[in-house]
Amino acid sequence: MPANDIRLSAITEVLTRTPVETTEIRPLSETWGCDVFNLATMEEALSKNAFKAMKRTVQTGETLDPATADVVAAAMKDWAMGKGAKFFSHVFYPLTNITAEKHDGFIVTNADGNAITEFTGSLLIKGEPDGSSFPNGSLRMTNAARGYTAWDPTSPAYIMQTQNGATLMIPSVFMSWTGEALDKKIPLLRSNAAMDTAARKVLALMGETDIAPLNSSCGAEQEYFLIDSHFAAARPDLLLAGRTLFGAPPAKGQEFDDHYFGAIPARVQVFMQEFEDRLYRLGIPAKTHHNEVAPGQFEIAPYFEAANVAADHQQLLMTVMKATAAEHGFMCLLHEKPFAGINGSGKHVNWSVGNATQGNLLDPGTSPEENLQFLVFCGAVIRGVHLYGPLLRAVIATASNDHRLGANEAPPAILSVYLGDQLEAVYADIEAGKVSASSDGGIMDLGLSQILPFTRDPGDRNRTSPFAFTGNRFEFRAVGSSQSVSGPLVAMNTMLADSLDWIAAKLETELGAGKELPEAVATVLQEVMELHGNAVFGGDGYSSEWHEAAVKERGLRNLPTSADALPVFTEQAVIDLFTSTGVLSAVELNSRYEVYAEQYINSVLVEAKLVMDLGKTVIYPAALGYLAELSATYAAVPALDTGVVDAIAANANGLMSTITELGAELEKHDFADTAEHMQHVATSIRGLMDQARVYADALEVDVADKAWPLPKYREMLFIR
Ligand code: ADP
Ligand code: MG
Repeated sequence: MPANDIRLSAITEVLTRTPVETTEIRPLSETWGCDVFNLATMEEALSKNAFKAMKRTVQTGETLDPATADVVAAAMKDWAMGKGAKFFSHVFYPLTNITAEKHDGFIVTNADGNAITEFTGSLLIKGEPDGSSFPNGSLRMTNAARGYTAWDPTSPAYIMQTQNGATLMIPSVFMSWTGEALDKKIPLLRSNAAMDTAARKVLALMGETDIAPLNSSCGAEQEYFLIDSHFAAARPDLLLAGRTLFGAPPAKGQEFDDHYFGAIPARVQVFMQEFEDRLYRLGIPAKTHHNEVAPGQFEIAPYFEAANVAADHQQLLMTVMKATAAEHGFMCLLHEKPFAGINGSGKHVNWSVGNATQGNLLDPGTSPEENLQFLVFCGAVIRGVHLYGPLLRAVIATASNDHRLGANEAPPAILSVYLGDQLEAVYADIEAGKVSASSDGGIMDLGLSQILPFTRDPGDRNRTSPFAFTGNRFEFRAVGSSQSVSGPLVAMNTMLADSLDWIAAKLETELGAGKELPEAVATVLQEVMELHGNAVFGGDGYSSEWHEAAVKERGLRNLPTSADALPVFTEQAVIDLFTSTGVLSAVELNSRYEVYAEQYINSVLVEAKLVMDLGKTVIYPAALGYLAELSATYAAVPALDTGVVDAIAANANGLMSTITELGAELEKHDFADTAEHMQHVATSIRGLMDQARVYADALEVDVADKAWPLPKYREMLFIR
């Protein structure tokens, strides 16, 4: 079939498709968590003692003894088999952004040839996938290929229902034979522990005696696109790279703002209902959904949970979303920028820290006594963003997110922190020394009685900030839509741990010198603001003035591409941060740099090859075919003006010569190190890809619609 027929038949298929039937949605009371081995299930399935031990492990991280693990394993197996599971799998989170699993049967045969089922504590606790099949940086060179997964009892096991049957899934960590972290969960758990230790020091110095374990929380808003799978099938770039490498802008895009929060298309509603029903069964608290800014773009946000569980749930959400979309005839695009010129997708990571005794430490609350703790923790975040802004940039550095950051509809690549007018004023006063301790009971008087006590929203929203305070949490807005939330959470927890440690030492000195607590806090926070206040910015983060002032006047770093940002992992300050907090060893950190750099390079190289392939075999032939047709007509009708022939010929020539150049650049392999290789990819390769696109998109505008082979933007975005 000629290429353009593929496009035209895709349109016909989409227009004539039979709608997916709505499945029966059972009430939430019947479905909520029904596929999860959670505490409620365990209370029924376990003996009193075993349950108590498990609960302590889940809630305080206490180690489970082997005998109890055996009991839990047996109960888990019975529960899972009762739900039809014949297999179990340790699920883990390698350094790619995907989820990995290796399935094993419960079945074993005995000497008589009978099949019995077996699942012991040791099988539950440890799995053994091949470590060498996953990215591990240089760790594999120094260690055996063997890798281990180990059960994380703090994240509940669940049943994954697929068309292939049911499988018991066991959230796990993944490490090398020598115990080095090869995954995204180990550092998340360690960073939480580091934050807990440091926060405890500070809270104790502030007079707290009863301090429950501290945990970080995460609520992630996920943006995504849905396009009909017939269009996706006709776009090799969407299939292989998750984004369109070519495509002229449609006559109508998102200029009318008519999609955002508009009525959700019926077909998408049917998908969302089934998708969310599946999330509920898995105990994922889907809370809001709505249309996003771009046509075909949507958002889902679950209610926030403990960071470790939220991170596992976020991975699961992406998996379930893609699978459910496919069943509904959609391709779910998680790429940060699937369509040039149209808004991209992000994942806003809402983050706070707190515990059962002191509550959310990033909640300003309504009484000044609480504000003191709040001001210290919020000050610690300000210091963290200032010192480790480049790290925050590095943990969101991927080839795909580079298309979005700094693109005037997404946060800039410069990391600053937005506090809102009121808080900004409070910290400005602290910096200016305009705070005093009152005589009665040590309450801090900020001299801002017109503002305090805080209301819930001490500031407006600022969509242009990459890192914004939003009432009782920070929202890291620059995270990419396809990313695991782990990296960002690790960076935030770890920088907070470091800052709280620093503050604890300072506080101790001030208190030791005989200062009252409020005065000591004011002194330390004044120093925080003097040293780190430059990270606080409430203006327009998209503006070119800010890009200039941030760097020249504030000394902040602008790291526009991943090639600029990823080497931050090798900087001494970052190595010191991770090693001093015990979150990653220098070896583990460096292996991450190598893996992420390699992923960056490979992603761009795959795209570059696709640009060459599609340019040569799809777009160029379409242009030439149309030229042949035009030439015949012009020969027959000499009165016609032939200017369009020259335009098409020039763009076709331009496309092919750019592709030849790109081919030559791809042959270069002689780089001093990974950083230099990344720069080559970010500048030469990406530059030529962009150039090829300019020619191809100009051809799309000139070639007759019936002769154009690839589904167009207007079709993919508006037909469903
Ligand atoms: P908005 O679009 O206004 O930012 P959403 O309701 O879409 O808000 O998403 C906000 C996210 O922040 C939700 O996942 C919510 O559960 C989460 N969240 C709310 N409070 C906290 C908190 N204290 N810590 C972490 N996440 C939170
Ligand atoms: Mg938000």
